[in-house]
Amino acid sequence: EDITADVLVIGGGGAGLVSAITAAENGVKVILVEKMPAVGGNTIISATGITASDTQLHKDSGISFTVEDHYKRTIETGKGLADEKLVRVLVENSSAAYDWLVSLGLSYKIQSPEEPFWIVPTEGHYGAELVKALQAEAGKHKNLEIKLNTKATELITEEGKVVGAKVEGQGGEYVINAKAVILATGGLNNAPEMIAEYNPNYKGVHTEMTTPGPTGDGIKMAAAVGAQLRHMDLFQMRPLSSNGNWYKEVVISEEGKGGILVNLDGDRFVDETMKTWDLASEILKQKEGTAYIIFDNDVYETKEGKKTVEKGKGVKADTIEELAAQLGLDPAKLKATVDAYNAGQDPFNRKAMGKVTTAPFYGIKTLPSSHYTMGGVAINENAQVLKEDGSVIEGLYAAGEVVGGLYGAGRVAGNNTLDDIVFGKIAAKHAIGK
Ligand code: ADP
Repeated sequence: EDITADVLVIGGGGAGLVSAITAAENGVKVILVEKMPAVGGNTIISATGITASDTQLHKDSGISFTVEDHYKRTIETGKGLADEKLVRVLVENSSAAYDWLVSLGLSYKIQSPEEPFWIVPTEGHYGAELVKALQAEAGKHKNLEIKLNTKATELITEEGKVVGAKVEGQGGEYVINAKAVILATGGLNNAPEMIAEYNPNYKGVHTEMTTPGPTGDGIKMAAAVGAQLRHMDLFQMRPLSSNGNWYKEVVISEEGKGGILVNLDGDRFVDETMKTWDLASEILKQKEGTAYIIFDNDVYETKEGKKTVEKGKGVKADTIEELAAQLGLDPAKLKATVDAYNAGQDPFNRKAMGKVTTAPFYGIKTLPSSHYTMGGVAINENAQVLKEDGSVIEGLYAAGEVVGGLYGAGRVAGNNTLDDIVFGKIAAKHAIGK
């Protein structure tokens, strides 16, 4: 049977929870639908912290990261493709976002004087603590109902205005009518086919860096009612990811030391020090879209080495041949590849050559995966979804990773949770006329 709310929020990750709470704080009737059995989305696995500037923490500690620093860093990381107006809104609201998190009972500290842009919880896992606090806050509002296992399938319009959505819940299919709909469905990190459609370089991409929920639903639903999509070919790729963890280039290039990447044939195939996004597509061209990082004890002993091996369930052996056997590679072939590399033979013009000579040796399987979807629906500074011609689609808002074009070609880690909060709040407030 059809039901009615003032605000319908689709998706229960960071952005959805924040917008639902904000609308509910203002007394209106809110329904949030989440297709999974639990809220949290990819927000719950985010590990970095929140990027924030000129917060009370910065003032109290005398560690400086200004709004202007924040703006510059965000724009630069986007390689000239960021939406400057939206970034301005984002950074100018980070201090208020921090105050709001504190008001929920969360407690943060600045990561370090060297990394003054991140504030991290004083205890616990960043994403998990955040979702827990948001869930607790949501639970305080009787006028906010969260429907789990309920998937929105289609937006409903009347004379061009969005007035609700069709959903599939435990009782079957029904309609939720609403004065405004807020899309907070996340990206498409768990939609490999859709990723490949928008960027053929990532055909065969794995899904190691995502929870199951973000499958591009919001982008499809918005496009079906005429929303403009931005930057759909851009993704933040994690070429060297495995077991859900991400290894920076550290294994390959830290201090000019470093290992190599080999494919299932035991051959090198690339300059391992190339840009990570290009590296992802080179790995994906190999058999099974898979490669192994091979390195020696000197790399293992670097800052990130041990952690990397542990998280990535790396294997260890006293000789290259034994390592190959453990990884299921041809021992003679891998030995020949390593010997050639150690002798400085390099058909790929690698920038900084290292050596793989000091036993024991290590190998880690890598599965290039999308970690963040840069593309998505276009919004304005009120978080209203835009049409191709730049005019707004009445009644439709978007916040969080479903939004495209905010950051451009690269995202500062930690800005994503900030944008969940900032644009989640803006969407809710504008939707109810506050
Ligand atoms: P964000 O950081 O933008 O909030 P998340 O990935 O944390 O993104 O959260 C997105 C949430 O939206 C996930 O929990 C996902 O399961 C949910 N979701 C995605 N598509 C739908 C849909 N069609 N209906 C309901 N929930 C959805």
